Amino acid sequence: MPLSLHNTLTGKKEPFVPLVPGQVSMYNCGPTVYQYAHIGNLRAYVFADILKRSLEWNKYSVNQVINITDVGHMVGDGDGGQDKMEKSAELEKKSAQEIATFYTEAFLEDISALNIDKFKITFCKATDHIPEQIILIKKLEKKGFTYITSDGVYFDTSKFPAYGKLGNIDLSGLEEGSRVEINTEKKNKTDFALWKFSPAGEKRQQEWPSSWGVGFPGWHIECSAMSMKYLGESFDIHTGGIDHIPVHHNNEIAQSESATGKTYVRYWLHNAFLNIDSHKISKSIGNTICIRDLISKGISPVAYRYWLLTAHYRTMLNFTEESVLGAQTALIKLINHFIEWRQLPIGTENSDYMKRFEDFINDDLDTPKALALTWELIKDKKVSVGDKTATLLSFDSIFGLNLSTMPIQKTEAEEIPPEITALAEEREKARQNKEWKLADAIRAEITVRGYEVKDTEKGFDLKAI
Ligand code: AMP
Ligand code: ZN
Repeated sequence: MPLSLHNTLTGKKEPFVPLVPGQVSMYNCGPTVYQYAHIGNLRAYVFADILKRSLEWNKYSVNQVINITDVGHMVGDGDGGQDKMEKSAELEKKSAQEIATFYTEAFLEDISALNIDKFKITFCKATDHIPEQIILIKKLEKKGFTYITSDGVYFDTSKFPAYGKLGNIDLSGLEEGSRVEINTEKKNKTDFALWKFSPAGEKRQQEWPSSWGVGFPGWHIECSAMSMKYLGESFDIHTGGIDHIPVHHNNEIAQSESATGKTYVRYWLHNAFLNIDSHKISKSIGNTICIRDLISKGISPVAYRYWLLTAHYRTMLNFTEESVLGAQTALIKLINHFIEWRQLPIGTENSDYMKRFEDFINDDLDTPKALALTWELIKDKKVSVGDKTATLLSFDSIFGLNLSTMPIQKTEAEEIPPEITALAEEREKARQNKEWKLADAIRAEITVRGYEVKDTEKGFDLKAI
């Protein structure tokens, strides 16, 4: 079955056909680097990674771009209020630049821990692309889509008749929404800032000169400017969480299509939200969980990835420690089977399972069904162990559990890779400090990399599973 994807633009599942045969251009709305990404944010990037791997399965080469928002994203996602970066800098008593550098690095570490290959992605920072954003605003100004108020340059949404087409947004509902605050100088309530002036008498940490005045770009213009710079004025896929549909992505479409007169993006894909213990993730509730918190709860990041795959990306997910720990147990079982079988000569992929797997993946990335099929294969006595290994390795090119890096042979103690020994030492330290959950998480991490740690009187013993 050819690949089909659910397109928010049409509200339908559609066959995927790229603009250029064999090549896919994809932009994933990136993190605002003012604090650690929480596990809901990270769902968006695991989804983008599964999508990329599925495109590669279908023999496309993928040009993937993720932006780093390090200026202009205001608290509350609107045009007013404080810039998230500057607020964080104030709280942490650092410069906005230091905040951005620190949390960008943390984000890259987090996605690596989730087996997302950061080296195959182009990352672009908003602050590195101020001239591109200014040029785009100028283009809009020249075409008559903008107007100036006392606090910035705004986009006039009444000049873009298709405004709100993504997700068929009920604009009257949006106008009453809490995200779009009252600004009496705006011509239409849905208008949004392209360039904000630095407040009079105040020097912002991040500000730039422009023909309109000293200030900084709005949050939406960065995505249009950078995606079109790296992928062209029309490109194939744009992703993000569903929260971005009504405002951010409709604003991106309005400003990009007004500037170029072309279709901006052909397939818009959105992941559903992740809640925690049935609550929305929010700082004010104090329930944000990051990768570091997962580890201290005894959960390996790869087990979290596996758990995400047990639900379809368009289904809302509810995080509970028990459910993710359950997924971790399943993952370890899978790895134990795999490692045992891998000692034997590898066979060939089972064509029946491969076809069924591809049909599930090509049906809008149905990972829960693909995982269920994996367990069917594991239990199937009619398929030889060697063929199971070969088939599982292929499935894993989508799942990304990194089974291919598991050790093939029972390894002698001195051949244990240094990073595994380092993990075991870290676990030993956690045990000595009676941090049992942390110790369990590190044990799970060691297991998902194919090794077993045993406690002995002298410390620990390590061997390949
Ligand atoms: P931000 O750093 O706020 O720009 O968000 C980064 C990405 O995470 C965006 O694609 C958001 O749509 C997505 N996102 C934010 N919160 C959640 C959540 N609770 N569940 C899933 N995705 C989310
Ligand atoms: Zn964006």
